[in-house]
Amino acid sequence: MRSSAAPSNVSSALAPTPPEATLRPVSLVPGADGPVEARLTVLSGPSGVGKDAVLAAVRRRHPDVWVSTSVTTRAPRPTETDGVEYHFVDRDRIAHLIESGELLEHAEYAGNLYGTPREPVLRRLAAGRPAFLVIELQGMRQVRKLLPDAQFVFLAPPSFEELERRLLGRGTEPEEIIRQRLDQARIELASEAEFDVTVVNDSVERAADELVTLIEHPVPRRRK
Ligand code: 5GP
Repeated sequence: MRSSAAPSNVSSALAPTPPEATLRPVSLVPGADGPVEARLTVLSGPSGVGKDAVLAAVRRRHPDVWVSTSVTTRAPRPTETDGVEYHFVDRDRIAHLIESGELLEHAEYAGNLYGTPREPVLRRLAAGRPAFLVIELQGMRQVRKLLPDAQFVFLAPPSFEELERRLLGRGTEPEEIIRQRLDQARIELASEAEFDVTVVNDSVERAADELVTLIEHPVPRRRK
């Protein structure tokens, strides 16, 4: 489950967004002592680290959490439903969305395209409500440029060996794809210092608790 409020179809999720002004970060929370950003929290981490499991646990504790539903050219896994985990689309569709500026960010990852429909995210932030993205590193860097006041959280495995074990154990991809994902994971693990905070997924429930604390009490910036 990637979204608790998935739009009923892709076209409504991807309605054009008014330019520029909506990209200004971010609204203030009424009644707060000082300027508190209505936070976009961006969760990244290597494939197989357990982002979806942690998010599912967060939702159990924090039902208001809203997670953006991405578009992807990847084929659905047997357990996935179009419009829930992803909007499954073809390359032409994503190319069109990129060209028309309807994606907040996009990236090619292990041979497939992924992207975040921009309008639903900006609408949440404009309303002063928190939003979550769960994306890989290239996408996180694009979001950081657009919305530098977002909070960037790195979900790390306890070790690389543990990550490899989890990816192999998942058994959902052919070996060649797993190799590509492990290569990508090495790159992503080296990027940890670009994030505001790291959460280690040594236990899904504990990591989810830590993430909820971060949502409620965002950390100060690590970067300059
Ligand atoms: P998977 O195919 O395993 O669902 O996802 C592969 C990678 O793509 C994961 O790291 C996932 O977090 C990332 N991802 C999912 N949606 C998006 C998106 O909209 N944009 C970007 N940049 N990455 C995404």
